[in-house]
Amino acid sequence: VANIEILTIGDELVEGRLVDTNAPWLSARLVEAGFQVTHHQSIPDDRDMIIAALRSSAARADALLVSGGLGPTSDDITAEAAARAFDRVLELNQEALDHVVSLFARMGRRMTSNNKKQAWLPAGTTLIPNGRGTATGFCLEGEGTPIYFLPGVPHELEAMFERFVLKALRERFNPEHTLVSSLHTFGLGESKVGSLLEPLTVPSPGRLRVQYRAALPEVHVRLCLSGFDEGDPAGLRTLETVAEEAASRLGRAVFSRQEESLAQTVIRLLKSRGETVATAESCTGGLLGATLTEVPGASAVFMGGIVSYDNRVKRQQLGVPDQLLEQYGAVSEPVTRVLAEQARRRLETTYALAITGIAGPGGGTPNKPIGTVCLGIAAPRGVSTRTVRFPGDRNRVRLFSAYAALEMLRRALIELESSDTGQD
Ligand code: ATP
Repeated sequence: VANIEILTIGDELVEGRLVDTNAPWLSARLVEAGFQVTHHQSIPDDRDMIIAALRSSAARADALLVSGGLGPTSDDITAEAAARAFDRVLELNQEALDHVVSLFARMGRRMTSNNKKQAWLPAGTTLIPNGRGTATGFCLEGEGTPIYFLPGVPHELEAMFERFVLKALRERFNPEHTLVSSLHTFGLGESKVGSLLEPLTVPSPGRLRVQYRAALPEVHVRLCLSGFDEGDPAGLRTLETVAEEAASRLGRAVFSRQEESLAQTVIRLLKSRGETVATAESCTGGLLGATLTEVPGASAVFMGGIVSYDNRVKRQQLGVPDQLLEQYGAVSEPVTRVLAEQARRRLETTYALAITGIAGPGGGTPNKPIGTVCLGIAAPRGVSTRTVRFPGDRNRVRLFSAYAALEMLRRALIELESSDTGQD
């Protein structure tokens, strides 16, 4: 397996002003494509450090990917450092110059002499075209190791990686074909998911790697199968078998096998049924609505919500009787029941979800400690409520509350799906 290193360049990365997303993005794509990533390194815009890092990585790795510092400003010195590191001269690359000139012409803007600087590249490089920005990437061999230089802007780097770098790496190293199947789960911790999937195996010649990612509060699992040639039907069959077993071991915690988020899954299910949802939120303050509206196309199914944070809003906007608030308190199933019912009626939707809870840090009592949350769902068949206790701080309680409400709706929808197809 080819060992690949990633070097990201930029003062803002090492000074804590910018989180490096390029290295993890590149790593995920490389690993998926059957490569091994052995080293991540971030360094400042410092010529000597770039030179040293390029030399040491080139000596260690089978290939090196570099991001950043290709721009027109004085701190963009990657090309110059690359030339120095591998004893090459910088020369005006006509193709790179043509690219910058034509990009400026198309944008109807005047080029500055700075922009011309971007066309000075080490001698003997191959250009990596950039369809989205002025900085062209380039590739050169340093001590026999191919080094790919890409701009720092993520969407430019990603497009250039997909179109050029991945292809070049595949041709050069011919990595093992890997088949991938994903399961997205909610409701089980990462370690529980891990222990449930530990016994998974595949018959020879297959080799299975199980990867976990906590996309809080979701846990994403990827089953990576290698050992089969591309297009070999036995590989696909083996993957399907092991994915089925993983899904049955995780049971109802699996909400998607199509790389969706929980909100996307719920919206897809609602859309396919032509149904709608509304929300009544207290402690989450609109987080559930925000989670739904993060998904493009949510407008087809999400009608809106009422953030009934104060009891006055619960009374006036959602008709919660004083007597219920006094007798049970706002964080109670009787109040949550009314919130869900009334949101459904007043916003005229198929379903409504309601959340009240004590997110902390204040407000806990012995009977209702911090983390106590009441969830409700109103559906055509009636209303149901439950009380749960989430551990953690305020934000964690709020996040899990929003997701638990979504999960109640998903469970209701899949139950309907299975009864529609006559499985009950
Ligand atoms: P350009 O000429 O297009 O600016 P560049 O190669 O000079 O390309 P940089 O100046 O290093 O790129 O970075 C440009 C911007 O890209 C940064 O301001 C930052 O927003 C983003 N960026 C750079 N490096 C990373 C990284 N490792 N992860 C995420 N974003 C990054």
